[in-house]
Amino acid sequence: MIDLDDASEILSRIRDYANNPDFIDYAQAAALKMVTHLFTDAGRTWRQAAKRNSKGLRIFEALLKEMQSPIGAAFRFQVERNAAIIRSLPLDVAKQVNHHIMTEVVKGTRASEIAQQIKQYFPEASKAKANLIARTEVSKTSTALTQVRSEATGVNWYIWRTSEDSRVRGSHRIMDQVLVKWTNPPSPEKLDGQTRTYGNYHAGGIFNCRCYAEPVIDLNLVKWPAKVYYSGSIQRMTRKQFEKIV
Ligand SMILES: [Zn+2]
Repeated sequence: MIDLDDASEILSRIRDYANNPDFIDYAQAAALKMVTHLFTDAGRTWRQAAKRNSKGLRIFEALLKEMQSPIGAAFRFQVERNAAIIRSLPLDVAKQVNHHIMTEVVKGTRASEIAQQIKQYFPEASKAKANLIARTEVSKTSTALTQVRSEATGVNWYIWRTSEDSRVRGSHRIMDQVLVKWTNPPSPEKLDGQTRTYGNYHAGGIFNCRCYAEPVIDLNLVKWPAKVYYSGSIQRMTRKQFEKIV
């Protein structure tokens, strides 16, 4: 007779884990870390632009001031949102564990062995998943913030920047230093000739992407000729050609 006591006991403990004070603390701390990082890091591209440009500095200061009033609310909202995502993870993992138990039982694996597998699988699985979601949420929200700030100041284009290391995926490597219009995001996979695509999105807008958008505040700071994403392809343009399409 198959004895599932061990496995189902663990499953119910995983469900309890969602309400475990330690895990809730972990979720809250992880969420806070995500957002703190986001709000200290989001200014990075603007600071970089400001460093090279007096107009950029004024824009950056104006944005900081503008951020002052809603920033407290935005901050709390983001922490809560991320904490909620993280808190829901044990239940996701519980579903996976349930599926794992069924599969292993059918295979005839002993319950004590299944229990052992599950003990190893959890909580590492939920932490790994939390980290993936955290990274994706941070870069997505960071890009969204840059976009909102750009649109508020009439900055219509940005330069797609990669982290320029060996971990950058091929489809994003071809986007490095390409000028992109906020209203016209590319499909990097399509541009790279891949069959599996993830739709159109901006720098930082997809899982495990460390790319970011650097707003184009001053055309004098762009190296010409430059690569431009236009009419569905990456084109090399002189400043004159670019000014015609802006
Ligand atoms: Zn990327």
